[in-house]
Amino acid sequence: MSDEKTQVEAARTSFTTDFARFVDLNPAGSSLSDAEALLREVSELKVRHTGKKSAIAATKKLIGKVPAEERGEFGQLVKSVENEITSGISGAEARLNEYISRARTERDRLDVTLPGRRPPLGHLHPITLVREKIEDIFVSMGYAIEDDREIETDYYNFDALNIPEGHPARESQDTFYTTTGLALRSQTSTVQIRAMERRGVPIRILAPGRVFRRDTPDMTHTPMFHQLEGLCVDKGITMAHLKGTVTEWLRRLFDQDTKTRFRPSYFPFTEPSAEFDFSCFKCHGTGKYEDARCRPCKGSGWIELGGSGMVHPNVLRAVGADPQVYSGFAFGFGVERMAALMYEIDDIRYLFENDVRFLEQFA
Ligand SMILES: [Zn+2]
Repeated sequence: MSDEKTQVEAARTSFTTDFARFVDLNPAGSSLSDAEALLREVSELKVRHTGKKSAIAATKKLIGKVPAEERGEFGQLVKSVENEITSGISGAEARLNEYISRARTERDRLDVTLPGRRPPLGHLHPITLVREKIEDIFVSMGYAIEDDREIETDYYNFDALNIPEGHPARESQDTFYTTTGLALRSQTSTVQIRAMERRGVPIRILAPGRVFRRDTPDMTHTPMFHQLEGLCVDKGITMAHLKGTVTEWLRRLFDQDTKTRFRPSYFPFTEPSAEFDFSCFKCHGTGKYEDARCRPCKGSGWIELGGSGMVHPNVLRAVGADPQVYSGFAFGFGVERMAALMYEIDDIRYLFENDVRFLEQFA
């Protein structure tokens, strides 16, 4: 029967050789896909060494051919080798299956204790911040916020504002015109005319908006900028109301001790006209800040802000209001200049470059 025993030993040797690398298999540290590949190899070994066509299956057929007195011993040998093969394979399968199952759970795990990924929050542009602060003050004083179109006819941009034909502001070197002769509004005063036509008088409005002028961009000029204009028309409105309103607004924006001053000037749409300044919010009019020349007011203690005046009778007539009955004041200034002062921005072009590193500072 030594031939039969040799066959059984050959089956065992063949399995031991194939299975050698799985005997002490420790999948720890291998990737999920590597572990899955190992499991496939073990399955192939299982077919090759325990299937119907395996060497050990062939030796079972020899049991009947062995002499009866040796049959028991031979049967036990076959059985023990078969056990050795199947237990080796099922042990490796169990280790790999357990590892794969844990690795899959790990891969699919959702850690609910991790902080969420927040989308980055934006914030308002400094121009908008300044505009909204000023709007809030005027709304609390009974003013309505008005906006209107940015492309205007000559009539609204000039004629109705008492800017006659031939006035230098109407020249194409100062104002942008479309090919069909419409003007990009050069001041928000156009909104005053349209609002008075629509609402009539009395009226109290604040008109913030973009305006356009043919300027070469530099530290203090851009061809597009924002203006804020106020208009108040009623019976008995005087220059005292203008001064009181502008002073109150600047006090609410900066400080209760803010002073204003008005210097005679000329604008076509107001008569009399005045430019207005206010005492510096940083040095409180002293011109010095921390023993150095104050920056926003350049050491003068005063900051020049905008233009103002009593609405010209011709402007009132243009919207059908009787200048014998009604009077009013108007004022306006540039929002970029105001933002540059408040945030100490040296070059207003930064406000339009949309550089996040600059804009982030105003969160
Ligand atoms: Zn100052």
